[in-house]
Amino acid sequence: MVHADRVSKSFGSNEVLKSISLSVPQGEVMCLVGPSGSGKSTFLRCINHLERVDAGRLSVEGVLVGYEERGDKLYELKPREAARQRRDIGMVFQRFNLFPHMTALENIIEAPIRVNKVKKEAAVAHAQELLARVGLAGKADAYPAHLSGGQQQRVAIARALAMEPKLMLFDEPTSALDPELVGEVLDVMKGLAESGMTMIVVTHEMGFAREVADQLVFMDGGVVVESGDPDQVLGNPQHERTKAFLSKVL
Ligand code: ATP
Ligand code: MG
Repeated sequence: MVHADRVSKSFGSNEVLKSISLSVPQGEVMCLVGPSGSGKSTFLRCINHLERVDAGRLSVEGVLVGYEERGDKLYELKPREAARQRRDIGMVFQRFNLFPHMTALENIIEAPIRVNKVKKEAAVAHAQELLARVGLAGKADAYPAHLSGGQQQRVAIARALAMEPKLMLFDEPTSALDPELVGEVLDVMKGLAESGMTMIVVTHEMGFAREVADQLVFMDGGVVVESGDPDQVLGNPQHERTKAFLSKVL
């Protein structure tokens, strides 16, 4: 589903991703962990071409991300084409990024109507279903300011799902939340994983990773230090760097 093959990325002289190779099969969940600055967010941003890779290849469902191959040359997609590719990929960030002047429901129907040209009635019906799915059936008319952080984040997930993505990327979706609100968001993500969504989740919630991830990847300094079955990586880390990191977060 997602294939990264020797992906490298620098910002100036700062090499942030150093030949990253990873794969996420259809329907599986990869959790990505690592210290601050290790390149986790940059990697996610490369997957939907919010950042341009310098070398290597990234593909989603066999389609090259951000580029078109003609002969043996790669040509970068025009912004409109890159945007079209990005529609199939849902992204949820640490900060909820809801439109503050729109209700929960309006936040969810905005992109399907504007971008996908879905009829308003159909978009509203779908949004109601999604709100129910994230446990917020009664909150359609609430504005973000009147929702808790956990509720806002669940609306953000519903909003991403409204575009019917093939892949969901989560960048520390619970790290801005009060501890008592983390569980409700993780529960929604767990349900999503169980429904068969392909997901890449940057998180420090090791309990979630152990329970939900098919694959746990530890990154440090722009390289994949260790990856594999979460029980294996968490219970029996092979590298000193992994051990040192886990001793801080477990
Ligand atoms: P955190 O856990 O703090 O979110 P991260 O693993 O997500 O860290 P990244 O945000 O990917 O790390 O950053 C990796 C490195 O790339 C850092 O040194 C950061 O300063 C640098 N970086 C990220 N984005 C940019 C940018 N747009 N321009 C320049 N440098 C950047
Ligand atoms: Mg980050």
